[in-house]
Amino acid sequence: MTSARPNIIAMSGYQPGEQPQAGKFIKLNTNENPYPASPAVATAIRAALDQGLEKYPDALATSFRLRAAEVLDVDPDWIVCGNGSDDILTIVTRTFVGQHDLLRLPYPSYILYRTLAEIQAANFAEVAFDEHWKLGPAFTAQEDQLRLAYLPNPNSPSGTVLAPAEVEALAGDLACPLLVDEAYVDFAEQHCLDLVRRNANVMVSRTLSKSYALAGLRFGFVVAQPTLVQQLLKVKDSYNCDTLSIAGATAAIDDQAWLQENRAKIIATRTRMSAALEKLGFSVVPSQANFVWCTHAEQPLQPLYEALKRDRILIRYMDYPNWGAGLRISVGTDEQVDACLGRLEAALTS
Ligand SMILES: *Cc1c(COP(=O)(O)O)cnc(C)c1O
Repeated sequence: MTSARPNIIAMSGYQPGEQPQAGKFIKLNTNENPYPASPAVATAIRAALDQGLEKYPDALATSFRLRAAEVLDVDPDWIVCGNGSDDILTIVTRTFVGQHDLLRLPYPSYILYRTLAEIQAANFAEVAFDEHWKLGPAFTAQEDQLRLAYLPNPNSPSGTVLAPAEVEALAGDLACPLLVDEAYVDFAEQHCLDLVRRNANVMVSRTLSKSYALAGLRFGFVVAQPTLVQQLLKVKDSYNCDTLSIAGATAAIDDQAWLQENRAKIIATRTRMSAALEKLGFSVVPSQANFVWCTHAEQPLQPLYEALKRDRILIRYMDYPNWGAGLRISVGTDEQVDACLGRLEAALTS
């Protein structure tokens, strides 16, 4: 008999999107950025490497926090860095949610939140978005065990957003802290950093994986008021970010010109791709992220996903119980997107 904790044995574990290690795939399944990161990132990592790796890294990633604080106009002491924002989500969950406590999240959204609750032997309650991708009062209802709420904004898999005023209203009604997961916010029109200043219960997390094209580097952070930061720092691993990732992340956030140029390219491709999918008969949810969520009234979607996979184009087929199935397609380069659209058209007309 295994002696792992019962809640660990009972859980199935988070399944990340496919990452084929062999062969050439067009990868439009995990919302990676299709363009290479700012060249300043590699330069900074090489320079850090030349300094040697025999010392522990700065436990608080101070160089990154100072630069990010200027770019985002927040106090550097309000920033906690992590080994990707998944690490931030782990730290936040462990800080606020214990055994039998309750974590609230929207549905459908990022599956990892459930997994984090399960690891804590906590319960999670999913509140479904309405047909306009808004959240009703069930999301903020008070319950004794409620300790934390997660809100991905823009949401995945829909790419939809709640306006900052809507998020502020939810946060005001919640009796527990709210983490706004802004993994995709650089592709959106608005963000919620201002809410952190106005509400001590609001935290905003960000990642360099998507908009800075650094999924392989593993760097994310959360912005929160000092009362919460103090607690988060006790929970995080001392050296959760390494010397090379701190150097690379600092260079990345320093290059805002790169970010703006990349963002413009992705948004232009997203607009074109959404229109082309609609022409093929898909219903496309207007996206403020680097992916689109689409459904089709006449065509089953799983065979489309499989047809593309046979041709080495990976997209995401997702089937949410009591919600429905859809395809989530990341915004790639124009070339990648055209290959995907061409293959979809062929499959739809064959
Ligand atoms: C990709 C993603 C993250 C995590 O990104 P990291 O690579 O761990 O920084 C967090 N939240 C959502 C909603 C995401 O899609």
